[in-house]
Amino acid sequence: MSWSLDKIYPGGSGSEAFAAELDGLGRDIEAFARSLRDAEGAAETADGLGRWTQAAQSILARLREAESFTACLTAADVRDRRAAALDDRVKNLAAAFQAALTLYDRALGDAGEKTFDGWLSSEGGPGAAAFYVAERRERAQEKLPPEQEALAGDLAVNGYHGWGELYNTIVGRTRFLAADETGEMKTWSAGQMQNLLHHGDRGVRKAAFDSWEAEWGRQADLCADALNRIAGFRLKLYGRRGWTSALKEPLDMNRMRRETLEAMWAAVDESRPALVRYLNRKAELLGLERLDWHDVDAPIGKAARTVPYEEAAAFIVDRFRQFSPDMADLAERAFRERWIEAENRGGKRPGGFCTSFPIAGETRIFMTYSGTASNVSTLAHELGHAYHQHVMNDLPAFAQEYAMNVAETASTFAEWIVSDSAVRAATDPAEKLALLDDQLQRAVAFFMNIRARFLFETRFYERRRDGLLSADELCALMEEAQREAYAGALGVWHPHFWASKLHFYLTDVPFYNFPYTFGYLFSSGLYARAMAEGAAFAGRYAELLRDTGSMTVEDLAWKHLGVRLDDIAFWREAAAVPLKDIDTFLSLAP
Ligand SMILES: [Zn+2]
Repeated sequence: MSWSLDKIYPGGSGSEAFAAELDGLGRDIEAFARSLRDAEGAAETADGLGRWTQAAQSILARLREAESFTACLTAADVRDRRAAALDDRVKNLAAAFQAALTLYDRALGDAGEKTFDGWLSSEGGPGAAAFYVAERRERAQEKLPPEQEALAGDLAVNGYHGWGELYNTIVGRTRFLAADETGEMKTWSAGQMQNLLHHGDRGVRKAAFDSWEAEWGRQADLCADALNRIAGFRLKLYGRRGWTSALKEPLDMNRMRRETLEAMWAAVDESRPALVRYLNRKAELLGLERLDWHDVDAPIGKAARTVPYEEAAAFIVDRFRQFSPDMADLAERAFRERWIEAENRGGKRPGGFCTSFPIAGETRIFMTYSGTASNVSTLAHELGHAYHQHVMNDLPAFAQEYAMNVAETASTFAEWIVSDSAVRAATDPAEKLALLDDQLQRAVAFFMNIRARFLFETRFYERRRDGLLSADELCALMEEAQREAYAGALGVWHPHFWASKLHFYLTDVPFYNFPYTFGYLFSSGLYARAMAEGAAFAGRYAELLRDTGSMTVEDLAWKHLGVRLDDIAFWREAAAVPLKDIDTFLSLAP
């Protein structure tokens, strides 16, 4: 149940080969930047563009490999100081590379239209990386002149990003006073509160939630400052660039059009009545008039049986095989060649991830397996990521760069295959109900919770144009968004959600919400296709995954599925997948 990293670099955090690689990487990044600086002002030639593009991709692949290695080392042993130091070094190398890429962008822009277009489709051109390179050039041209962007970026470190970091300080200061299951009052950190907020005992859960809201209320003034400044900075910069919509940047980052987003939300909003029926029945099961905010993720019934690791592995491989032999083979290889760190022991970081080594052509999966149904889903989820990487392995590094909204396609799809089968395989009605409830909680999260975040954030940005919003105004805006997204189905709301949720304060990714729903529904739509077409779909599925880094989502869906994403029809079909679980849930729930 533990992984092998020695095949990547022998010797763990003391690896000499890895240290030498980082030295070499540092020199090559420096040489890449120098070459671009030396050429500044000269007319760019196709030959130069070709050389820089090749160098950039080689560095990018090596950086990914290095990032993955230190991510694995630090996760497997949080006390490994040498690993932490290596991780820091890699982050600095990545920052130096990002800085060099702005020079690369300038070179792309400096090349005349004719030179650039000629090179793009030529023999010595970027090949499969053409979309990525052309996209970089276009994005750079939509921004301010390079000197101004560089200044804005420098000022952002202590301004914009500084506000984002201040939020971390605020979270670190929070202290929550709440009783544990024995009734003893204790002080908890924000991280520790998660268990209490989802506790099976309603009294514990409710008290924890009251304390949660109250403490965020005490921090709300500071949070409001941070949020107002982050949004103000973005709006000012967007305005200078001549961008009128706050959604332009997040949509561009996710390679999608506004019409697609609107069609997706329309299908989500249509699904509300069905989800409300589920929420109301869940309330009955819990013996309540209606659910409060803190009841939505509450467990119903007892915990299901634990699944031994070997059984989970066999189950996953078997389920994958029914759909795609290729996917099953890759999963088998991951188990056999020790790509997975699943052991339940101390010193490991919480959570799970899958990270790829593009040069070795392998992946590694990190998680802590204790045999719960959700562990089995996580394992399938991460193996889905591994398969995504597997089908992209032979592509140029730039063509492997996919956006957040499609990043979870393969993982969610793998989860659907396994969890849907698990529901069908369950014979005990109580267990079946609990598994369905688990699935439907996810649907509520993507259809209602994320929807509320999006409504809140769009309206906040509109209002922010006219000035600062007070904490009270933000609470009112949040509660209004929640009432709308949940169709008024809950009793108690979470007005300080905007203060408690990290995602609103992440400065690297604006609107860190709709890509989640997109990813969930896009893979649900794929799953619906796979169910309808059977094994014949496997080949097309792999081809679609291969293209995730090479085109817009609209082109991806049109090329491989023959559907238009700005049409509600596809999203309806996708939403029907979780919605059918509601019918089963209602028929099973007494
Ligand atoms: Zn994932």
